[in-house]
Amino acid sequence: MFKPTIHQLHPYTPEKPLAVLKEELGLPQLVRMSANENPFGTSVKVQQAVTNWNFTQSRDYPDGYASQLRTAVAKHLDVAAEQLVFGNGLDEVIALIARTFLSPGDEVIEPWPTFSEYRLHAQIEGATVIDVPVTETGNFDLSAMAQALTAKTKLIWVCNPNNPTGTLLSIATLTEWLRQIPKDVLVLMDEAYIEFTDDYPATSAISLLSKFPNLVVLRTFSKIYGLANFRVGFGVFPKQLVNYLQTVRLPYNLSSIAQVSAQAALADQDFVAMTRKRVQQARDSWERFLTQTGLPHTRSQTNFQFFQAPKMQASALKKRLLQQGFLVRDGLKPGWLRVTFGTEVQNTAVQRIIETFQAELTGPNALK
Ligand SMILES: *Cc1c(COP(=O)(O)O)cnc(C)c1O
Repeated sequence: MFKPTIHQLHPYTPEKPLAVLKEELGLPQLVRMSANENPFGTSVKVQQAVTNWNFTQSRDYPDGYASQLRTAVAKHLDVAAEQLVFGNGLDEVIALIARTFLSPGDEVIEPWPTFSEYRLHAQIEGATVIDVPVTETGNFDLSAMAQALTAKTKLIWVCNPNNPTGTLLSIATLTEWLRQIPKDVLVLMDEAYIEFTDDYPATSAISLLSKFPNLVVLRTFSKIYGLANFRVGFGVFPKQLVNYLQTVRLPYNLSSIAQVSAQAALADQDFVAMTRKRVQQARDSWERFLTQTGLPHTRSQTNFQFFQAPKMQASALKKRLLQQGFLVRDGLKPGWLRVTFGTEVQNTAVQRIIETFQAELTGPNALK
């Protein structure tokens, strides 16, 4: 009845709604630090834009070309407006790419661990996913990724900075590497977290688009713009590929509210700068903490940190944190947890809990 490729797959299990989980655990407070959302919320300009939106337009279909948002994004990134393809979240653009370019038997190369949607959508299309483990430092093994190329390779996913390791590859390194990739293999650079990096915008591959005709840069409004609920992401594609994607894309995939809020969010670069600054401070505090406690971790350039739990006890630590009102992410690599940065107070609280947990496991009174 269904496509054979679906047979082995499982639906994404979203976390329980925060309110439900809080109720179940009887917690007075529960902070989600598991989904890489913006701890500082959303620009107030977005609220104004949504409130001012003309409700009588509810019965009209939205602008299927997202014209105003398109013009604003193109100007902001200094790319051509017709290079942009918008999605209902970047997730939808990822699905769209798989649906447009992959046939059964094709091969897709990705690092491991990385964002899980690349694999899922490749598998739905019947493609084979080649996982190339990241190095000890959490960075991509670029030469191994190039060596994994075969005549069947269609796509290479490069999440930069990578989720969940948080590590960033330099533009110089990427440029060198891109030279080795055949021009008929599409390289997808997922820059969901790029605005959090210290040297942004110099860290972005947008500047490489004119040099490499097989390069695509992907962005989202869900992370630094704090707009995850409204579902807006986009890709900057080589012009000659845009029509294929636009053919496959659903005609009205972005509601007007989504378009209006993304445009308002983009216009408020002060909010973005404030978020970046506070995230950088959080990053410093987490780096110091993990160095002091000696817990293995990767070098983050994002709004989250990936680290090894004391004695690899990731699920026990996750449980402890949950009991004390903090939800973090496990299941990405055995023994490791990913924590999204919170406010200063939240970060300190989580760090204290980890310290206590570590002391119980390894201190002089540790149970043998
Ligand atoms: C969050 C995330 C996305 C998806 O973002 P949405 O726009 O909310 O769908 C894509 N890629 C990576 C690496 C992410 O972490």
